[in-house]
Amino acid sequence: MVGINFKLKNYGGNLDKKKVLIVMGTRPEVIKLAPIVRAVKEEGQDSMEAVVLVTAQHRELLDQTLEVFNIVPDYDLDLMSKDQSIASVCVGVLEGVGEVIKKERPDVVVVQGDTTTTFAAALSAFYNKVKVAHVEAGLRSWDRFDPYPEEVNRSLISRFSDFNFCPTETAKKNLIAENINEKAIFVTGNSVVDALEEALKIPKELNREILGDFNPDVDNIVLLTMHRRESFGEPMERVFGALLKLVERNKDVKVIFPVHPNPSVKKAAEILASNESIRLVDPLPYLDFINVMKLSKLIITDSGGVCEEAPSLGKPVLLIREVTERPEAISAGTAILVGTDPEKIITSVEKLIGDKKEYEKFKNINSPFGDGTAALMIVKILSEIL
Ligand code: UDP
Repeated sequence: MVGINFKLKNYGGNLDKKKVLIVMGTRPEVIKLAPIVRAVKEEGQDSMEAVVLVTAQHRELLDQTLEVFNIVPDYDLDLMSKDQSIASVCVGVLEGVGEVIKKERPDVVVVQGDTTTTFAAALSAFYNKVKVAHVEAGLRSWDRFDPYPEEVNRSLISRFSDFNFCPTETAKKNLIAENINEKAIFVTGNSVVDALEEALKIPKELNREILGDFNPDVDNIVLLTMHRRESFGEPMERVFGALLKLVERNKDVKVIFPVHPNPSVKKAAEILASNESIRLVDPLPYLDFINVMKLSKLIITDSGGVCEEAPSLGKPVLLIREVTERPEAISAGTAILVGTDPEKIITSVEKLIGDKKEYEKFKNINSPFGDGTAALMIVKILSEIL
């Protein structure tokens, strides 16, 4: 095995308890699995024990988020490398997780979502005949290349997962339509709502440096995130062009853009750098990001997690994607699918800012992604069935 560097904590197993190996590789996986780690360690402590493995498919964003939730991994594959390919991550995770499974012999491997870490860790569990629990199962955009490779990753996991924890009834229906055994499907809500609620309880003052000279009392703050592979190139250029026009036409609109460390995003974002109404900042630690969401008028994003969090904060989302695997947000009215057409983006922002009545509606819509009890349900189901 090449390039796999275990940082092994002195870990003492307990033979009577069911061992739950929780695998995470990226920022959203940490956020959405943190409540499950906590629930296994607290509510599940009599019957279960948690072993946390990070692959570090992304390094900085992962570490930044582990710290927020006080998670100290038992294993760290430390996989991230410059110019890593999907294949290299996949092979590294498959081998690395396999080694840990052989050593720890867990009763179940818990994965979340659709990243290459998620897919390869689940496959590794299957190869080792260990049960797979898939958190956030059943999301489908029905386009193999949007999101790529995530749509195929999550579809494949459903073929061999033992526990499919769906965030919504829609996700459950998707799995049933694919002939997944209904007894292995559980609708729990999305654990991102649990994570957000947990994070909102941690006191964290607003870091004013993020705002520069923007003033949320008088300015309309627009929070932007854009990082998906399928957004690179022309779609990203169109969105950034739209923002330049938007701030030119509306002097009270100020944009805060935490720029994802991916070189393609950083390069494309240079076009915004010298505009006084647009602030490019480093990726924000989760608590700071939540603070900025809270003070924003609206959010423009291609992120799934942000689209799921915004309704809990009553913030409108303009989803800059052509398709979404989260149609619940559109039908509940918490997000508007605007694609990357500049005209549509500009008019949608102006409408939200100008139409108070329309804007107020967003504050009163219940989140379609759950009530913050997903992690407890998941841990309860695991402890009963394992
Ligand atoms: N997030 C964060 N800091 C940032 C941008 C996003 O903590 O600067 C959080 C956000 O609240 C959400 C998650 O990261 O919970 C989304 O991650 P990302 O956009 O990388 O992935 P996706 O949701 O698209 O899978």
